[in-house]
Amino acid sequence: MLIVMNHNAGEREIAAVVEVVAQMGFQAVPIPGSERTAIGVLGNRGYVDDGKIRDLPGVQEVIHVSKPYKLVSRDFHPAGTLVKVGGVTIGEGQRPVVAAGPCAVEGEDQIMKTALAVKAAGADLLRGGAFKPRTGPHTFQGLKKDGLRLLAMAGKAAGLPIVTEVMSPDNVGLVAEYADLLQVGARNMQNFDLLRELGRIDKPVLLKRGMSATIEEFLAAAEYILAEGNSQVILCERGIRTFETATRNTLDLAVVQLCKELSHLPIMIDPSHATGKRSLVPPMSKAALVAGAHGILVEVHPEPEKALSDGPQSLTCEGFAKLMEEIGKLNSFLGY
Ligand code: PEP
Ligand code: MN
Repeated sequence: MLIVMNHNAGEREIAAVVEVVAQMGFQAVPIPGSERTAIGVLGNRGYVDDGKIRDLPGVQEVIHVSKPYKLVSRDFHPAGTLVKVGGVTIGEGQRPVVAAGPCAVEGEDQIMKTALAVKAAGADLLRGGAFKPRTGPHTFQGLKKDGLRLLAMAGKAAGLPIVTEVMSPDNVGLVAEYADLLQVGARNMQNFDLLRELGRIDKPVLLKRGMSATIEEFLAAAEYILAEGNSQVILCERGIRTFETATRNTLDLAVVQLCKELSHLPIMIDPSHATGKRSLVPPMSKAALVAGAHGILVEVHPEPEKALSDGPQSLTCEGFAKLMEEIGKLNSFLGY
C-alpha cells in the first residue's frame, strides 16, 4: 500500500499517518518527493483496510499495490539507485559500465591474460566463474575456491573489481570474501534461500533474470534481497527461452526501459548468454547501450576455441578491444 500525501502536507500530518500505520502493526516508510511525500506501507501479507488512513489530515490518496514487489519498485523509491562496485558506480546518469572476462576461470595464465587485455581495452570490471552452474554434471564445474583466488589475483593485477557467481547459500560468505560483486545466475534466480542470504551481506549483487522468468518474477526475486536489507542490487537480462533455436536465447531488450520504469535498480545486459554466438555479441552490446542499459557483461577468452565453457559466444581479446573502440564512440554520441 502506498499513501500519497497532499503537496502541502507537513511533518505533523506525515508523522500522524506513520503513527496510525504503526498502530495497525505495519511499517511506514516516508518517501519524500519533489512535489509531495508518499508513505510506503510494509509488512502486510495481503489487502489492508485503509479506512483508518484515508480520512487522516493531509492524505490525498491511498494506492493498493498488488505487485509482489515493493522495495524494488519506483513507487517506493523514485530516485534511481546507484550501486558501487569497488570504485565503479553503476546506475542512472553514469557512463554505462563494461564487465568482461571468461565464462570460467580455467587457470592462472588464462585469467591473467584476459584480465590485462580487457583492462587495456577499457573494461571496468573483470568477470569469471569459479562455481559454474553447468547443464550436466560431467562437464567442467569450475575451480571453486582456487578460481576465486585466481580471479581476485588477476583483478588486483589489472586494477579491476571482480564479479563472480555464487550458487549456494553456504558459499555466500566464501564468495563475498573475494568478490566485489556477487552474481546470481539465471538458474538460481528463484533460489530463495540464496537470495535471502545475499540480502544479509554488505556487498552488491548482480541478479540475472531466469531463463523463463517473467519481469514480475524477476523483480519479485530482487525483492527477496532488498527485503533482508541489501539494496545494492543490479538486474541483468541475459536472454530468455523462446521457440527460437537459432540463437541460444532470445534477448529481451525491451526490459531495459521496462525495468527502468518499474524499478529504481540499475539494469545490465549480458549479450553473450543472450545470443550464444560471437558474431552477435558486438551488435547486441551496442543495441543494449542505445536502449539505455547501465552496463553490459561480456564473455572474453584469449583462446575461445580451447575454452572449457561457452567458447562459441566468447569474444577474443582482439574482438573485445574492437568492440570497446566502437563503444567509446557510441558513448560520446550518447553524451557520456
Ligand atoms: C555466466 O554468466 O557465466 C552464466 C552462467 O550465466 P547465466 O546464469 O546467465 O546462464
Ligand atoms: Mn558463460
